[in-house]
Order: sequence, then C-alpha cells, then structure tokens
Amino acid sequence: MTAPAQRLVLASVHDVSPRFEGEVDRLLDLLAPHVGSRLAMLVVPNHWGTAPIVPGSPFATRLRRWADSGIEMFLHGFHHRDDRRHERRSDRLRAQFMTASEGEFLGLDRREAADLISEGRALVEGVTGRAIDGFVAPAWLYGEGALAALGDADIKLAEDHWRVWSPAEQRTLARGPVITWASRTRARLASSLAAAALLRHAPLSVLRIGVHPPDCRHQALVRSIDRTFAAAGRGRRAGAYRDLLN
Ligand SMILES: [Zn+2]
Repeated sequence: MTAPAQRLVLASVHDVSPRFEGEVDRLLDLLAPHVGSRLAMLVVPNHWGTAPIVPGSPFATRLRRWADSGIEMFLHGFHHRDDRRHERRSDRLRAQFMTASEGEFLGLDRREAADLISEGRALVEGVTGRAIDGFVAPAWLYGEGALAALGDADIKLAEDHWRVWSPAEQRTLARGPVITWASRTRARLASSLAAAALLRHAPLSVLRIGVHPPDCRHQALVRSIDRTFAAAGRGRRAGAYRDLLN
C-alpha cells in the first residue's frame, strides 16, 4: 500500500547576499523552529552591483555551509535591479509600480538573460560546490527572453507568484499563490498581513511561503510570519522544491 500523498510547505528566503547577511540570520532563526534547514535560499550574485559574493570570502564560506546543511540554492537574478527602459508601456508600469525597479529579468532579451544566468550559476555553483536547484527571477517577473533562456539553460525548477514549473521538463509542478510580505508602504504592509492570515489556511497541497530581508525589521511582520508557518505546518511537512520533480 502506498502512503497517502503528504501536503507540503515550501519555505524560501529571498535576496540572500552579503548586503543582508544580518537579516538573513534573523530570518533563519525565525524559520528554524518550523522548518529547520528545510528551506530554499534565493541567492543574488551581486546585489545592485555593490554587494558581490566573492569566492573565498567569509560570506561565501557560509553559503557553502548552508548548502552542505541541505538548504536548496536558487539563483535569484544577478544584480536584482532593472536598469532598462521598457518598450511596452504595460511592462514599464509593471516594472515601476509593482517592483520598485527590481524586475531585472523582465526586459532582457534571450542572449542577455542567458549570459547573466550562466555567469551567476557558475559563481554560485563554484562557491557551494554543487549544482543550483533552480532559478527565480527578482520580483518573480520573467520576460519572454528570460523564459526562453531558462529552457535553453536546462534549469530544473523555477517559480513565479502563481506556480512552480520545470523549464527543463516544460511542465507545471505546483499551483497556488506564494505567501509573502511587503513593507515598502503602510498600505502594502497591511494588505500583506491580511493576505497571509487568509492564505495560510488555504487547502493547497503545496503551500509556498517566501520571506525577504526587510521583513524582520517589522514586529507585525515577524509575528505574522511565525503564525503563518505555525498554521501551515499543521498537516504539512516541510518539503524541498526538488521533491516536486519526483
Ligand atoms: Zn528578490
């Protein structure tokens, strides 16, 4: 007899970079009672062009230890900043108002996206000594060039706000919104608290929860994150994204 399929909670820490080392530590402490080291890190090779991950540096050593402990490693853009002027008005609006210009992979063509994926992947894989588990675009925004480049690069796992898929296998692996928090404005902070309070009870077979470094600076968000993991953990086990491939 086969065991019943178990529901999963997938945790991720975004924007892992030397820029946010202290915040990442606080988030790991917050998540540990709920998921241990069963989580994914979204790693930015050189955040805003001013926080490079340097092979051999103390931060690089920590990244390797985190990977050794079983934490999944996703490449998360390269600079995490959208420096381009978008041709299409809808893309321009999306880039400016939805993401505070963090949608780095929205306006890249196939070649540009491929180059950044290849360079970032080589860096992260060199530092951790293992293959990356996948790629997640900054702000979960993918342009057509980025989507084509992910397929070319044989990336096993990717996600956006609404689903997890395999670019390599060209199939969707899980559906449902990711629970995440925003703190850029009071209105966003309030609406993200309300959304989390609802979504953590959603009857999804795979519940994704993504946290960002600035979250830990707001007590209300820290409380909401803690409650969300506690609620999500009832009837779910902490899983890995790679579990979805089997
Ligand atoms: Zn990010």
